Amino acid sequence: MPDSVSPPTLSFFQRAAVAFVQWFDADHTAGDPVKMRAEPDRVDWVRCIPFIILHAGCLGVLWVGWSPFAVIAAIAFYFGRMFAVTGIYHRYFSHKTYSSSRVGQFLLALWGATTVQRGALWWAYHHRHHHQHSDDPEDAHSPHVHGFWWSHIGWITSRRNFPTDYSKVKDLAKFPELVLLNRFDTVIPILSAIAIFVTGQILAHVAPGLHTSGAQLLVWGFFVSTTALFHGTSCINSMAHLMGRRRFDTSDDSRNSFILALITLGEGWHNNHHRYMSCTRQGFYWWEIDLTYYGLKALSCTGLIWGLKPVPKSVLDEAARSDHAATIAAVRRASHAHQDYSYATLKKVVPAAAAIAVATAASARTTAPKKPEGPGIHRDVTEETHNLARKTPPGEQR
Ligand SMILES: [Zn+2]
Ligand SMILES: [Zn+2]
Repeated sequence: MPDSVSPPTLSFFQRAAVAFVQWFDADHTAGDPVKMRAEPDRVDWVRCIPFIILHAGCLGVLWVGWSPFAVIAAIAFYFGRMFAVTGIYHRYFSHKTYSSSRVGQFLLALWGATTVQRGALWWAYHHRHHHQHSDDPEDAHSPHVHGFWWSHIGWITSRRNFPTDYSKVKDLAKFPELVLLNRFDTVIPILSAIAIFVTGQILAHVAPGLHTSGAQLLVWGFFVSTTALFHGTSCINSMAHLMGRRRFDTSDDSRNSFILALITLGEGWHNNHHRYMSCTRQGFYWWEIDLTYYGLKALSCTGLIWGLKPVPKSVLDEAARSDHAATIAAVRRASHAHQDYSYATLKKVVPAAAAIAVATAASARTTAPKKPEGPGIHRDVTEETHNLARKTPPGEQR
């Protein structure tokens, strides 16, 4: 973003009118999209309306109730479309980590469009931008620069992040069918919602034993599932640079998180991905669960996609060296912690033992027959033992 940003010149009502038209034509801008991208970051409340509707739709469960079928449908739509976000929008359109035919990539783009995360070109443009500017002020959704909530949801509501910069995705923009899908990015989500509703209505008649309906399936299969999908995906923007372990010393603060990997079907191995973004898999080892990768492997058997790119050996070697160094550091930390524990324990035990000895001796002295004064056995040695503990190097206490 340039240092000197031009202030927004549109009134609230003009911006509202533009935002309304953009719901049907995402490439519509009032004026130059370059200027729009140069506006300052701020929440545009008109752009929040779709998110409010999406979340409010979840409250529909109060009226439509639930059924096992509707809940299972919501879960299935969540994971089926999470795969589209990670395996298609991310690993294909953003990074081209595998190949497909022109028809194949159009089908992939259609699948991706059901996620209600805008068009493939908008998604890829913003994601490539993220890799170019990770955790610097230009990064649209860095939690370190903009805070948690901005990186989670705020950035999407900002007008400057709305237009697609087609010059940054020229390899995709040369396909008019992809540009068309990107431009009219609400068509597929609306059709999906209608299809879910109609399916529910049909099932209510042909399979009443499922106890579902069009409205119930719409609420669970579309609103609940899409809202969960949105927040699951957003966790990568807001938390994958905050939560987890760093295997590679990348220039950003990306991290690997098993929990995020489960929620997002493998995207949680974000530090791996920032180290090497051109391979298909993000979990580099079998224990780094990456369900998207397994799904893409399965999809490659159908012939729809091919040429999945492996992790280079040099990167795996680097990972092995890094893990080895991390293991040694962890052992050293554990060893120091044990020494500190032994030392601390001794500091408590020695004075206590000395105090008991003194008390015992004093007690014996009061009851025993009086003897001539001998060595000062009953003197208080607590302070001396404290001194002893302080002088003795911790390493010799073991
Ligand atoms: Zn990242
Ligand atoms: Zn990426």
